[in-house]
Amino acid sequence: MFIYPKKYDVIVVGGGHAGVEAALAAARMGCDTLLLTINVDAIGQMSCNPAIGGLAKGHLAREIDALGGEMGKNTDMTGIQFRTLNKSSGPAVWAPRAQCDKKSYQFRLKYVCESQNRLDVKQDQTSKVLQKDNVAYGVETNLGVQYFGKTIIITAGTFLRGLMHIGFNQQPGGRAGDAASINLSSSLKELGIELGRLKTGTPPRLIGNTINYTKTEIQDGDYPVPFFSFWNEDLFHVEHLWPKPRGSQPNNSISEQSIISKIGRQLPCYLTYTTKKTAELVKCNLHKSPLYSGVIEGVGPRYCPSIEDKVIKFSDKDRHQIFLEPEGVQTNEIYVNGFSTSLPFDLQIDMIRSIIGCEDAEILRPAYAVEYDFANPIQLNPSLESKKCTNLFLAGQINGTSGYEEAAAQGLMAGINAARKVQLKSPIILGRNQAYIGVLIDDLVTKGTVEPYRMFTSRAEYRLLLRHDNADLRLSRIGHEIGLLPARCFEKFLEKETVINNEIARLHSSYFKNDSLAKILSRPKLSYNDLSSKNLSLSSEAIQQVETTIKYAGYIRRQEVEIAKNANLDNKIIPKDINYKIVPSLRLEARQKLAKFLPHTIGQAGRISGVSPSDISVLLIWLKNNS
Ligand SMILES: Cc1cc2nc3c(=O)[nH]c(=O)nc-3n(C[C@H](O)[C@H](O)[C@H](O)COP(=O)(O)OP(=O)(O)OC[C@H]3O[C@@H](n4cnc5c(N)ncnc54)[C@H](O)[C@@H]3O)c2cc1C
Repeated sequence: MFIYPKKYDVIVVGGGHAGVEAALAAARMGCDTLLLTINVDAIGQMSCNPAIGGLAKGHLAREIDALGGEMGKNTDMTGIQFRTLNKSSGPAVWAPRAQCDKKSYQFRLKYVCESQNRLDVKQDQTSKVLQKDNVAYGVETNLGVQYFGKTIIITAGTFLRGLMHIGFNQQPGGRAGDAASINLSSSLKELGIELGRLKTGTPPRLIGNTINYTKTEIQDGDYPVPFFSFWNEDLFHVEHLWPKPRGSQPNNSISEQSIISKIGRQLPCYLTYTTKKTAELVKCNLHKSPLYSGVIEGVGPRYCPSIEDKVIKFSDKDRHQIFLEPEGVQTNEIYVNGFSTSLPFDLQIDMIRSIIGCEDAEILRPAYAVEYDFANPIQLNPSLESKKCTNLFLAGQINGTSGYEEAAAQGLMAGINAARKVQLKSPIILGRNQAYIGVLIDDLVTKGTVEPYRMFTSRAEYRLLLRHDNADLRLSRIGHEIGLLPARCFEKFLEKETVINNEIARLHSSYFKNDSLAKILSRPKLSYNDLSSKNLSLSSEAIQQVETTIKYAGYIRRQEVEIAKNANLDNKIIPKDINYKIVPSLRLEARQKLAKFLPHTIGQAGRISGVSPSDISVLLIWLKNNS
C-alpha cells in the first residue's frame, strides 16, 4: 500500500457533473482538493443527451452559475443551439435549454479542472472509504494507493455495480465504454449506508447523413441567444480548430471563442414522429425487453420513459414525438431524443427505420439501459453529509437523482459544505424559498426517493420567486459571501441590482397623467418599451426584471407573506439527540417516520409524509417544555 504524501482538505471521487462542481467549488473556496476519477478523459462526459437545461433543469443550471459554479459557462461556450422553452406560459416557468457539443463540453471542463488552483486531478478507481469509528479520513484505490483527506465526497453516478442491458445481453459498465465501479458499494455498505437499485436508459445515436431531414420539421435556435451564464466576461474556450463560419446570424455578445461565435450560427434540431409500425414492433417484442421480462430489477425514471413505456402506457397514441439532435459540430452523430430503449440491437434497427425520415438510417451506437446502486438520500443531512459517517458527503446520481443539472447542483452544495466543514464553518442550506437547489435537496433528504428523481417546476411552492432570470438576485450575494463567486462578478451583479432597483423606484415615482409609470406597466399587454419615459441604457435582462417585478407584484407579495409565515418553522432546530419514543402523544406513524428521517428542523419534519400538523404541534410543545 502506498500512502500518497500530500494530504487534502477535500477528496472528490468521480469526475461527472456532480464531481466537477464539487471539486471546483472546494478548491475555489481555498481548500486543497483532489478529484479522483476512473478516466480523466471522461471528466464532465454527458452520458445521455448532450443538452443542458429545459424545464426546471434550466433553473438549476442558472442557480449553479449565480453561486459561482461552472455549468452555465461551460454550456455557453460549448452550446450549438440555445432556446427558451415554455415561452407561451408565465415567466416563472420559462426555461433555457441548450444543445451542446458533447466532446467540447467535456474537454473544456477537464481543462478548467486541470487549470484550477488548489485542485489536483488524478485517474484511479476508488475502492474503499477509509474510516475510523465512522469518521471518514481518506480513500483507497484499485491501484493500492491511500489518499488522506479531511472530507470525502462520493459522486459515483451510474457506476456503482453498473450493469448495462441491450436485450438479454448484459455487460458490466457504468455507461457504454466505461468500466463499472465494483468495490465501492461494499465499502459504503460496511459504513451502514443502505443501497438500492435504479436504472436509466439512453436512445441509439445515428449517423446524420443517413437521415432524410426533408421529412422532418426543422427547429432553429432562438435569437437573441438565451445564454446561461450571468458572467460572460469570464468565458474562454480551450483552443480547437473550428470550421469556417457559414453565413452569420446576429449574435448578442458572447465570448468570441464560443462555438456559435466560431461557426457563426446555431445548429438546427429536427422534429419527427414514430409510426404505427414502431408501436407494433414494440408490442410484438416486449418479451425481449429486459425491463418488461423482469430481468432489470432497478426502478426507472418515471419522467424519462423508454419508448417501450410510452407505447404501452399511452397505447391510444398513434405516434410519439422524436427530436433528432446533433451531438456536436465536428461529428455526424445524431441523438434520437425520446427513443430510449433496452430492446435488442437487431430490433432497434427496425424500430429506428420505422421513424419518419429515418427509413435508411444507420445506428452508430445502440441504445441501452443501465442498472446501478444508489443510496436513498434520507441517509443524508441537508448539508449532504452522511448521517452514518462523519466527513463523508454524497452527491449526484448516487443519491437517486437523474440528470446533469440535479447532479451538478448537489455537487456544488456538497463541495461548498465540505469546504466549510474543513474551515469550521456552518453548512450552507438553501431554503425552498431561495432556490430550486433548496427544493431539490430538501425533497431528497426529507422524503428520500425510490425512483430516479428529476426536478420539475411543480415541485417548488414559490415558483414566481424562483425564476431562472433572477437566480443571480437570489443567490449571488451568498456565492460571494462564502468565497465562491469572484469579486469581479459580484461587482457586476451589484451594478445590475442597483440599476434594477433604481428603475423600479423611478417608475413608482414618475407619473403619466394621474398614474405612476409602475401602475401603467402593471396593465396587461403593456411592456416596458410602451412607457412614455424609459431608461434607454437598460439591458434586456434588467428590463425583464423590472417588468416581472412590477407586473407580478401582487402575487410575489402573497408568496413572500407565506414564506414569512413558514420561516419560523424552518428556523426551529430539532436537537440531534432527540428521542422520539419519549415524546408523549405523538402518533405511532409520526414517531416512526421522525425517528427514521431525523429531520433537522420543525419545517422539515412537517414535510415528511405521515407527520400531521397535530404531530407538529405536539412536538413544538414538547420541545418548548424540554429545551
Ligand atoms: C445510459 C444513461 C442514460 C441516461 N439517461 C438520462 C436521461 O434520460 N435523462 C437525464 O436527465 N439523465 C440521464 N442520465 C443521467 C445523467 O448522465 C446523470 O444524471 C449525470 O451524469 C449524473 O451525474 P453524476 O456526476 O452524478 O454522475 P456521472 O456523470 O455518472 O459521473 C460519475 C463519475 O464518477 C466516476 N466514478 C464512478 N465510480 C468511481 C470510483 N469508484 N472511483 C473513481 N471515480 C468513479 C465515473 O468515472 C464518472 O466520472 C443517463 C445516464 C446514463 C448512463
